[in-house]
Amino acid sequence: MRVFIAGLGTETNMFVPFPTGRKAYELWGVFRGDVTKHPPTSFSGPLHVWRRKAEARGWEVVESLCTFAAPAGVTVRSVYEGFRDEILADLRKAMPVDLVLLNLHGAMVADGYDDCEGDLLARVRAIVGPKVSVGAELDLHCHLSPAMVDNATALVIYKEYPHVDPMDRAAELFALCADAAEGRTKPVMAVWDCRMMGAYRTPVEPIRSFVDRLKALEGKDGILSVSFAHGFAFADVEDVGSRMLVVADGDRTRAAALAERLGKELFAAREAMTTKYLSPAQALERVAGHNEGPVVLADRADNPGSGAPGDSTFMLQALVERPMIRPALFGVLWDPMAFAIVEEAGEGARLSVRLGGKSGKVSGDPVDLVVTVKRIVRDATHPYGPVMAPLGDIAWLATDDGLDVAINTHRTQTFHADAFRNLGIEPEKYRTIVVKSAQHFYNGFAPIAKETLYVDTPGGSSPDYFRLPYTKRKTPFWPKTADPFA
Ligand SMILES: [Zn+2]
Repeated sequence: MRVFIAGLGTETNMFVPFPTGRKAYELWGVFRGDVTKHPPTSFSGPLHVWRRKAEARGWEVVESLCTFAAPAGVTVRSVYEGFRDEILADLRKAMPVDLVLLNLHGAMVADGYDDCEGDLLARVRAIVGPKVSVGAELDLHCHLSPAMVDNATALVIYKEYPHVDPMDRAAELFALCADAAEGRTKPVMAVWDCRMMGAYRTPVEPIRSFVDRLKALEGKDGILSVSFAHGFAFADVEDVGSRMLVVADGDRTRAAALAERLGKELFAAREAMTTKYLSPAQALERVAGHNEGPVVLADRADNPGSGAPGDSTFMLQALVERPMIRPALFGVLWDPMAFAIVEEAGEGARLSVRLGGKSGKVSGDPVDLVVTVKRIVRDATHPYGPVMAPLGDIAWLATDDGLDVAINTHRTQTFHADAFRNLGIEPEKYRTIVVKSAQHFYNGFAPIAKETLYVDTPGGSSPDYFRLPYTKRKTPFWPKTADPFA
């Protein structure tokens, strides 16, 4: 058996003002056939799994390109086409192959391509023909499109948010596609559009039990795999929204029936299944009701992990105005310009800095604070699941009245409380902590959080599904339409 593996991904927020170009991919790394020679990250991990599993069976592996860009705006057309065509050229050269395994995201948009993954899979299918087993792994924040489903043998989607399971899903996809390549199974897929938009936090009920039940359905009664594609709201594409996906062995009717049954179950419980957001005023009032902290507030609308800039100041301004809920910790705020000024002043310096609000209207107005530079650390990292993620250079700025801000140079969401501990900050001592993240922070703050609140401000990834300017989705969806099936 000859196995071809590759990876290409980003999550495209079409509502933010900055494009994703070549540099954004180079920052993560553009690996040409050798990503598995480097330590695994959350995006390259699946390729490591596939190589290991294939080699354990004595199969030959042909490894092509692997690259990823942090979520941001639309990918530049020539950049997408360049990476795509490299993968396709490698595949043509590798032919004949028995198995193609691709690690993709599922919400990558480039100029002229609303569905990069569907485009890539269709071109792969055209090269390998109808019989070769083609599998793709997707992030659950994907737009599950007909082009993806029609051109893949099987798709397997992350089940957990925070995403702690890309390697587990990679192992499942390998087994599924290897069985198909060896003629033991005939995977067929069916999708059901739940006609809803939402954020689903899998560590908490009732969504926890729902995900556990999906897992329990797999591997019996002819069902090979069950996935819940949460969807990614920040894109004006036809297939935006939540969907159920079932892979069955040879029986499409069975797959379709189960996808529909699970999708309807999810829709019926939609109010309980989706995350509730508070306004900044509501959230901070709730904090004031706690005698001790920390209460952790997710600044969801400025989550760089959803493609938002990471330098918005709406929540910072709210903390400035409320000395009663201090000590308060805010960050990590992406502000390379402020960092350069602070770095020049040095640790111990006291100065006036202008923070955030530099990326456009979605980031609000800058906030001016007089601060002491408590600490500067270079090339900091923090845990993202089992791997370490870069923070760049980071600084701890403190006002005289209990408001601390961490700023950094590398645009990223805050995955873990260790982001602050890099600086000697003890997060557990604060009454209020505001992080730039939608949900990936959750596991890393759970041990210290007295309560976790999800806040909606204006911003590049505001979960205000009434306001998002969709023009391409053809069917109605909840919550914009009360009953989208009517
Ligand atoms: Zn995701």
